[in-house]
Amino acid sequence: MTDTLQIDIHQIEKSRIDSVDFDNLVFGRSFADHMLMVDFKDGEWQTPQILPYGPISYSPAMMSLHYGQAIFEGMKAYKNAAGEILVFRPEENWKRLNKSAVRMCIPEIPEDIFMEGLSQLLRLDAEWIPAKEGCSMYIRPFMFSTDEYVGVSPSKTYKFMIFNCPVGSYYSKPLRVRVETQYIRAAHGGVGFSKNAGNYGGSLYPTKLAMDAGYDQIIWTDAATHTFVEEAGTMNLLFVIDGALVTAPTGDTILDGITRKSVLQVAKEWRMKIEERQLSVQELVEGIKAGKVTEAFGAGTAAVIAPIATIGFEGVDYQLPERAEDAFSKRVFEEINDTRLGKKADTRGWVMKI
Ligand SMILES: *Cc1c(COP(=O)(O)O)cnc(C)c1O
Repeated sequence: MTDTLQIDIHQIEKSRIDSVDFDNLVFGRSFADHMLMVDFKDGEWQTPQILPYGPISYSPAMMSLHYGQAIFEGMKAYKNAAGEILVFRPEENWKRLNKSAVRMCIPEIPEDIFMEGLSQLLRLDAEWIPAKEGCSMYIRPFMFSTDEYVGVSPSKTYKFMIFNCPVGSYYSKPLRVRVETQYIRAAHGGVGFSKNAGNYGGSLYPTKLAMDAGYDQIIWTDAATHTFVEEAGTMNLLFVIDGALVTAPTGDTILDGITRKSVLQVAKEWRMKIEERQLSVQELVEGIKAGKVTEAFGAGTAAVIAPIATIGFEGVDYQLPERAEDAFSKRVFEEINDTRLGKKADTRGWVMKI
């Protein structure tokens, strides 16, 4: 990372921070004063700019609106007890953004633009990072095509942007999830491993049907046979079965979550048995009935760990047991949470201090 990267900074005249009720933050509804904007044109990334957060105007023929060259990331920053800014594993988000970019024919963003742009933006809006326990700054980096053209082809111009949202503490009551056996999220050869906008557009309708039926979220199964468990919403899925941590291997249909990766690393350090393998819905249901499945949870940036209470399959609800005081998912949550908040020594090099 260099600090010679030039960034043009146009600061706001007056902060909007006084208009925000930091005690009642709604996820994704408040936006910090500034945003980062970098244009790609003439085959290269131009000088990054930091501008007041606000609307940008485009042609109705802007290509990303029509052909979906749009990708994003989600990550978080925190303040530690000393008031320093900590970001959890940002280079992983940078790498994953570029993996998505390659698949969607979007030019990759250089590391120094991503990291230095992020750092300067967070420093400028440092006051917006909530210091209260459980609160954080949700960071949204994204890229999209901007050519004014209605032919189907890769655009020649793009934007890379980052804006930040202060968010409140995330509490999720144990989830009710339904195994999806009709609709699919991703097929082999497709774009499931990339965080591209269309994946989420396509998930809304089946998720709405599940919600109408009284569930919070869907468990996606493999597209070809609907036999194997894949992931849920914007979370990876993990289970504790007979004391082993079981999760689907990330191939090209599953998003390679940074939280999942972190959970696996901690489990490995704790010498827990790890099984990255296909898990059939049948095995899961039989395992719950036999009392072998002691924990089921989602893993993602928003909640870190979201425990699952109920799994619905073919009209029957299967109930997971209450989590024990020393449940793995509770302990691993604390380990990751304390690390990202700087309460615990960062022995794994996960935290970037800026
Ligand atoms: C973002 C996302 C995840 C979780 O990734 P994290 O890096 O842990 O936040 C899992 N599944 C899908 C589909 C996602 O979009």
